[in-house]
Amino acid sequence: MDGKNTSRLVIVSNRLPLKLEKKEGKWEVTPSSGGLVSALNPILKNRGGIWIGWTGTTEHIGTDVLRQILGPASREAGYRMFPVMLSAEEVSKYYYGFSNEVLWPLFHDLQSHCNFEPEYWNYYRQVNEKFARAVSRYSREEDFIWVHDYQLISVASKLKKLKVKRRSVFFLHIPFPSLDIFLKLPWRTDLLKDFLEYDFIAFQTARDRRNFVDCLRAMFRGTRTKGRGPIVTVHCMDRKIKVGEMPISIDYRSFTRLAASEEVKDLLKEQRKRLHKNTVILGVDRLDYTKGIPERLRAYQMALRKYPELRENITLVQIVVPSREEVPAYKALRERIEQLVSAINGEFTTPGWVPVHYMHKSVTKTELVSLYRLADIALVTPLKDGMNLVAKEYCACQIDNKGVLILSEFAGSAAQMQKDAVMVNSYDIEGIADAIYNAVYMQPREKHDRMRRLRRDIRRRDVFWWVDNYLRAATGRALVDFPESEMAPILHAIQPQGPRQKNRGFGYEAAEKDIRS
Ligand code: UDP
Repeated sequence: MDGKNTSRLVIVSNRLPLKLEKKEGKWEVTPSSGGLVSALNPILKNRGGIWIGWTGTTEHIGTDVLRQILGPASREAGYRMFPVMLSAEEVSKYYYGFSNEVLWPLFHDLQSHCNFEPEYWNYYRQVNEKFARAVSRYSREEDFIWVHDYQLISVASKLKKLKVKRRSVFFLHIPFPSLDIFLKLPWRTDLLKDFLEYDFIAFQTARDRRNFVDCLRAMFRGTRTKGRGPIVTVHCMDRKIKVGEMPISIDYRSFTRLAASEEVKDLLKEQRKRLHKNTVILGVDRLDYTKGIPERLRAYQMALRKYPELRENITLVQIVVPSREEVPAYKALRERIEQLVSAINGEFTTPGWVPVHYMHKSVTKTELVSLYRLADIALVTPLKDGMNLVAKEYCACQIDNKGVLILSEFAGSAAQMQKDAVMVNSYDIEGIADAIYNAVYMQPREKHDRMRRLRRDIRRRDVFWWVDNYLRAATGRALVDFPESEMAPILHAIQPQGPRQKNRGFGYEAAEKDIRS
C-alpha cells in the first residue's frame, strides 16, 4: 500500500467524546456534550480514525478497565479512542486554570474574568507535552494529526521538541481576539510562536483570522501574507504556513431526519399540549458567562414589562447545560440565572401560565430536536461565541420553515446568518426585548422566506462540507480519501480477547503509566 492509503486521520482534543466516571465503585461511560463532539462524531465514524483525548477523570484507571471500556466504546463509535490521563493538579492548573481562566475569557473579549496566574502557563505547556507524547505513541509518521482548540495550541511545538515528525494542523473553535486584547496575555510571544509550528491553522471567521494575522504582524517584524480568499499563506519568522477561515457546521441531514421522525412527532404533541397555544421561545446554552444568559433573561423581562400583550401568550423555555461547575465564576453565574428566573416568574406568573420554564440539565438529542421544532423563536444571544451550533441546529429542525432565529452579532455564525436572522447586540437589553416583540408578530410569509434561506445555506455548508474543505486545504486530500473500509482491520485489532492480542496492548498500559509521570 502506498502512503496515501495508510495515513489515517488522528483527532486530538482535550476530551475524548465520552466521559468516564466512577459511581458507587463502578465505572460509568457517558457521551460528552458540546459543539466539538457533535461536529466530529459523524466525520470519524467508520473511517478508521483515531481520537486522542483526556478521559474526563483524574482517578486511577487500570489497563484492564481501560481496555474493557474503550474497546467496546471504540467499536460502537466506529473509530479508536486512546486516552490521555491527567492528575487532579494538571486538571486544576492546565484545564480550569490556563485554558478556562486565561485563554477562554481573553479570547471571548472578557479580560476582566482572566486570572493570569504564572504557574498556569507551566502546567499548560507540560500537559500539551503529554498530549504530544500520546500523539507520538498512537500515530504513525504518515498520519494527519488534527489538533483542536484552545487547550492544545502548543502540541505541535511540543512534538517538535520531542523530535517527533508529524504533519499537524489546527482548528481554533473559539474566537481569536483583537490585537489590543491579545497583547494583555503575559505569554503572548510564546503562544503565537506555538501557533506557527502547525502547517495549517484555521479559524471560524474572517474576523478571527484577521485578528490573528494582525497580532503576528505587530509582534514579528517582516510578517507577510500572500493570497486572497478563505486560505492565505503567511510568512512569519522562518515559517511559511497556511491560515484559513472555515465556519464549522452541523450534520444537517441527521437533524432534519430526526426532526421528521415519528418519535419527535409524538414528543412534540405532548410538549405542545402542555404549553397550550403559547408562542414558545427557546434558549439552549452551556452554563457559561459568554452565552449572555442573564442579559437574555433581563431582555425577556423587559419585553413582558414593555409589551403587556405578550403576557400569557409567550413562554420562554431555557435549557442550561451544566458545565465547569468547579469554577467559582460558573457557580455564581448559575445563582444569578436562577435568581432572575425566579424574579421573572414571581413578577408575571398567573394561574395556568408560567413565563419561564427553566431546566438546569442536559437533554437527549430527541428531546432537544423536539424542542427545536416546538420553538417559534430561538434566542441565541451570546456576548461572544466562536460559532454557536445551536443556531444552526435550530434552523435545520424547522422542517416547515416557520421559526424565527434571533441571533447575536457577536456569534461566529452571524457572519453566515445575519441576512436572514433577526440580529441583536447581545448587550442591548432593550434591543433584544424589541426583537422578541417583532419576532412574535412577524408575518408568516417573511418567517418562511427567511428560514428557507437560512436552511438552504446550512444544508449547503454542513459539517461534511466543513471537514472536506478543511482537509483539502490542510492536506490536499478530501474526506473520501479516508475511506470507511479502513475500519475493518482496526475493529479486528481492538478485540480484547486472546493472549496474543492482549500482549499487543494497544498502548493502554502506557496510558496507565502516564498518570504517574
Ligand atoms: N447539546 C448537548 N446537550 C444538551 C443540549 C445541547 O449536547 O443537553 C449540544 C447542542 O446540540 C450543540 C452543542 O451542545 O451541538 C452546543 O454547541 P454550541 O456551539 O452552541 O456551544 P458550545 O457549548 O460548544 O460553546
